[in-house]
Amino acid sequence: MTTQHQSVIFCDFDGTVTEKDNIVAIMEEFSPEGWQPIVNEILNETISIREGVGKMFSRISSDKKEEIVEFVLTRSKIREGFQEFIQFTQSERIPLHIVSGGIDFFVHPVLENKLDSEYVFCNNSDFSNDTIKITWPNACDDQCDNDCGCCKPSVIRRLEEKFPRAEKIVIGDSITDLQASKMADVVFARDYLIEKCEENRIPYTPFETFHDIIHVLEKRGVKS
Ligand SMILES: [Mg+2]
Ligand SMILES: [Zn+2]
Repeated sequence: MTTQHQSVIFCDFDGTVTEKDNIVAIMEEFSPEGWQPIVNEILNETISIREGVGKMFSRISSDKKEEIVEFVLTRSKIREGFQEFIQFTQSERIPLHIVSGGIDFFVHPVLENKLDSEYVFCNNSDFSNDTIKITWPNACDDQCDNDCGCCKPSVIRRLEEKFPRAEKIVIGDSITDLQASKMADVVFARDYLIEKCEENRIPYTPFETFHDIIHVLEKRGVKS
């Protein structure tokens, strides 16, 4: 095993680790007033993700917290091979980070006993008021003016210092992974991110399960 070539992984959560987007599922289930127009505003980029997500949760009562966690834990399906993928990255000593636009109170319970929380980057929440307040510990740095909420490029820039010269592997499924994909050496894409990679001429490997990713990394002999 060589030590010259280190890799580091930045993996999306919603629609990547889980099969579906949890924020959308939560909104459909708990249906806060006026959430649909807000989603549309996010999608047609008239408001930022940070503003839109903050607004939607601010219309849900704080006392729904346990119900939402329960809902996500029972309804969200983990993509096939994720547990094996974690084991693979651990045995190959490739640092695996989850970088998620999801919220701590449902992201951490899903990943509990799977991945140490210090490797999980997401938005936080505050239940001390009547309605849910989202807070943004991973907001955009001075090199991003996208108002991302959880800014994946900013997280990568911050962690890059810990892994200088490491090969960056980005795994994702949607538009929120595009900027991170531009910074990556290797991209694994599914769903809408495939279209975006094509449009932006970013080389990528398509995947459906985490077994697909393990297979590719094994074949090319990624080593820590
Ligand atoms: Mg996603
Ligand atoms: Zn940003």
